[in-house]
Amino acid sequence: MHLKKNQSSNYIRVSTLYKVLCIMCILMHMFLTTFFIITDIYSLMILNLISILIYLSSYLLIKSKQFVFVTLVCCVEIVLNVMVSSLFLGWNSGFYFYLFAFVPLCFYCKFRSTTTRFFIVNLTVVFFLATYFISTNTKELFTIAYYPKVVLYLTNAFCCFCSLSFLSYIYTKTIVYETSILSQSNKELEVLANTDPLTGLLNRRSMMKALSEIDIKYLSQNTKFSLILLDIDNFKVLNDKYGHECGDLVLKKICSEIKITLRQDDVVCRWGGEEILILLPKTEIYDAKNVANKIRKRIEDMSYPYKDNNVKATLTAGLSCAAEGFSISDLINQADCCMYKGKASGKNCVVSIKEIDK
Ligand code: GH3
Ligand code: MG
Ligand code: MG
Repeated sequence: MHLKKNQSSNYIRVSTLYKVLCIMCILMHMFLTTFFIITDIYSLMILNLISILIYLSSYLLIKSKQFVFVTLVCCVEIVLNVMVSSLFLGWNSGFYFYLFAFVPLCFYCKFRSTTTRFFIVNLTVVFFLATYFISTNTKELFTIAYYPKVVLYLTNAFCCFCSLSFLSYIYTKTIVYETSILSQSNKELEVLANTDPLTGLLNRRSMMKALSEIDIKYLSQNTKFSLILLDIDNFKVLNDKYGHECGDLVLKKICSEIKITLRQDDVVCRWGGEEILILLPKTEIYDAKNVANKIRKRIEDMSYPYKDNNVKATLTAGLSCAAEGFSISDLINQADCCMYKGKASGKNCVVSIKEIDK
């Protein structure tokens, strides 16, 4: 599985998300600063200027990946700002909206444990309730006219919706992105699970799947098929003489040669060490014999340059063909018997079940 290094676990980098949020907060506090200058509430203007400074510093801290620290600082800023502003201007000024917008951020930030996330959210709820009870039971310090207050309320609500929409959008995109990475990894895993790493051929497991599928087709539609079991001759001697590395090279080359000789629909797998099993759908035994001989001759004619040697190899093949009353394992055993018959009669040959029957 090759997950690229820059394919981080999040759709957008956490730092980018934090930077965008910082910019959003700075813009929002700039609006509030202007609003409080216009409405002559200088204490809240100063409070919002401090908030701007906090977000500017946070923006710089993000570069050094201090996400947890920045989240905690922003948490304190939001809670204090909401409490002070609500006490100064009353609950109806709508500053409590920002506490809602803060919740999803707690879950996006990489806190070590989920408990920390829930702890911060619960703390936010406590501050929300405290602000509600204090601000609704005490008289606000500043009274502003009805329409500016409506503007303030709606602006706060709008900013909350904006940040919630932005975070929800990021969550959705992240899920889609993560799902696509996961399905890509699953595909890669499936290929790994079905393939022999040395030769690149299918492995025994996926051949068994193909065999049972073709068997069902044979039983239901009488679609014929043949099997060829190939074994490299004297491979042990080859390994002993030239080394295992050379053996691997020869095995790989033989397998790729077999693959290019076959049709698209044929299934070829590494059955065992130096044994290869081929499934030829819609093929009678005579045609299978021709295919096996074609492969055998091609391999016989080939040579494999290894160091200063020209290594040669041959194959012996056993054949079987689908027939009534014979299971897949019967057919494999038949092909195996034929192959051993070929080995006994001098190797580098093709033997079919018909010849054994004679
Ligand atoms: P025969 O003609 O009777 O088949 O003789 P053989 O030597 O080919 O058969 P034997 O069963 O005696 O030995 C098979 C050899 O194949 C032994 C084993 O080390 C080698 N072999 C199996 N898999 C691999 C492999 O992946 N790489 C290499 N290099 N050798 C392998
Ligand atoms: Mg062999
Ligand atoms: Mg063998």
